[in-house]
Amino acid sequence: MERSKQKQLNQSEMQVTGTNDGSVNGHFEGMVKITNRPGGPQGVPGDTNSQTSSVMESWKEERTRSMEDNEISLPRLAAAYTTILRGLGEDPQRQGLLKTPWRAATAMQFFTKGYQEKIIDVLNDAIFDEDHDEMVIVKDIDMFSMCEHHLVPIFGRVHIGYLPNKRVLGLSKLARIVEIYSRRLQVQERLTKQIAVAITEALQPAGVGVVVEATHMCMVMRGVQKMNSKTVTSTMLGVFREDPKTRDEFLTLIRS
Ligand SMILES: [Zn+2]
Repeated sequence: MERSKQKQLNQSEMQVTGTNDGSVNGHFEGMVKITNRPGGPQGVPGDTNSQTSSVMESWKEERTRSMEDNEISLPRLAAAYTTILRGLGEDPQRQGLLKTPWRAATAMQFFTKGYQEKIIDVLNDAIFDEDHDEMVIVKDIDMFSMCEHHLVPIFGRVHIGYLPNKRVLGLSKLARIVEIYSRRLQVQERLTKQIAVAITEALQPAGVGVVVEATHMCMVMRGVQKMNSKTVTSTMLGVFREDPKTRDEFLTLIRS
């Protein structure tokens, strides 16, 4: 089984696929900031570095797509959709489909607009020196992505927590990081890790936890056809990985 193998490879990541029974998909509300952490570990920044170096996928050198690239590739994309329509046995010339290739091409560019943005641009002017060492949690961030294996939507929610080490990020920027990585062709495991690594690289916090719970249309509409099945992935770095108390506090709070 692919999933259990992945679990063995990297114990810092948990993955559960289950039905919507509330145990992992409880009713979440907005943002929670925790104060008064009793005796929680303060973390060592150097540790965080060594923990994450193996999963670093630096956003500083990431590939991007420009608006100009979009304009240039739009006719080719549209032509490809015409081919798809013919391949499906449809008549691309019938009235209802006349503009479909252009609409679909434009929509696909929008669904993947994360390629047009860089994390580093989002972080500019949004990192603050702050003597705040309590856990910060933003939960229920809506996420829309595209499965890179089937080119159909993945959608769900992302919960992020981190334990600052003198630096904090503007809260809305966490949602922007999710947006940039999710609006690309993705697998949920990579999306989860990329978000955690980006926050780690930007802030060098004592620890980061990211949980993504998502519905994959490729699972819902074909294959197992379980309407309520959700896939839950998580990446824990730094103290979120090393200290069960910190991790449990995070997991409890995103489910409360
Ligand atoms: Zn898929």
